[in-house]
Amino acid sequence: MRRRTSLVDIPVDIPKELTDLSESFADVLLNIGSLYELQLKGDLPVGVENGIWREIPKRLGITEIPETQKDKFEEQIQTLEKGIFDLYPITVNCGESEMDLIIGKVFSSEGDSVSYYSGAAGLANNNYINVIDQFDSKLETLCQKLSVRSLDDGESIKDKAPEIKCLDVFSLAGGLDVSHKPICVFFSGGGPENISSLSNLTVFLNLYSARFRVLTMAIAKRYLSGFEIIEGLSDSEISKLLLIWLRGHDVGHFIGEDRLGDKMSEFDMDYMILHELKSDMIALYSFRLFSDDFLNNGLLEKIYYLSVAEMLRYIRRGNVLKHPDSASAYLAWCYFERSGAIKYDPGCGKFKIELLLFGDAVSEFSKELLSIFSEGDAERARELVKRFGNLQTTNENDPSPRDCSETLREVIKDTDIAHYIDYNFITDK
Ligand SMILES: [Zn+2]
Repeated sequence: MRRRTSLVDIPVDIPKELTDLSESFADVLLNIGSLYELQLKGDLPVGVENGIWREIPKRLGITEIPETQKDKFEEQIQTLEKGIFDLYPITVNCGESEMDLIIGKVFSSEGDSVSYYSGAAGLANNNYINVIDQFDSKLETLCQKLSVRSLDDGESIKDKAPEIKCLDVFSLAGGLDVSHKPICVFFSGGGPENISSLSNLTVFLNLYSARFRVLTMAIAKRYLSGFEIIEGLSDSEISKLLLIWLRGHDVGHFIGEDRLGDKMSEFDMDYMILHELKSDMIALYSFRLFSDDFLNNGLLEKIYYLSVAEMLRYIRRGNVLKHPDSASAYLAWCYFERSGAIKYDPGCGKFKIELLLFGDAVSEFSKELLSIFSEGDAERARELVKRFGNLQTTNENDPSPRDCSETLREVIKDTDIAHYIDYNFITDK
């Protein structure tokens, strides 16, 4: 059984005035790629590392920059020279356009707690800022509906949740160019911060949407009854719905009291899984607040289908104990199946979403999770993670959870549908 990768074209229009800069950023990403390769081989002595790193400010320094941006650019290069904590963004504005380079180190998406040299370059995409703002404007209401206090230590959730920025990426390197391509990165923007509360979030929006169109749509088409409802979504609708989902998830991390964090380490896998699960449920719960707003005209129903299809994509990664977000999707799926909100129809070999039951299940599960966190009951927390059986992989050839249902196991195994995506960036018209 071999997992397949889908190669997809990603066209990005680079404004003429920023062509030289885009080439400079691409060169820097080659340096990042070399650092990553050497790091993987375990062959990166400090001298070599510093040597390659020093090439980066040098290369940036000889780039053509719009006059008004030169001072800021110089400052950014100097910061880079001093060394960086996690990831560092370099930003250049030109007219309506903005080009960003983000480089540094991020934790591997394969869960081995090593941080690898990584980088991305792209153009800012500001088309959806108002959607995020609209979402954030209802955070207070969301907390009221969930019966949790919205304010903690005088700070609002909006202030705690990371700041979102969207990029249309035209180049990736190192730890971001791996088989499971991340669709966003978190970073501190300066000093060391707590790993679970890094305050900047950059979303690779064009890649996120492409991944949905190529991988998730194929899964939905094969396994979700009623898939037609999302089949006709435009690219901009997909981007909008994915961003709403992501924002809901993001703020979900900060909603409700967390006494569990006093009892369990933030690196405890059970704790991490439940944190993702609470956020996933709060995101799903939040959508109903916008049914007369940006989720009108049937988009509410569509975002539920989109989310369920995405859950299947997360589950298909397998090896869920290595990926808290996949384990979260798996536990949510089991919960929905048990409550009848998702039913397998052996006749057509597809899963059906019962929307009314689905809404109820989301409410109940959100409240259960919020109470586990606010009570700080570690025993109850661990019981929940074990509720649907053993999460360990079944055997070498089967990455599904050991106690997974046979129907879901088939979905995970199905190699007719690609498991991975790779990008062919096209920047010249
Ligand atoms: Zn999360």
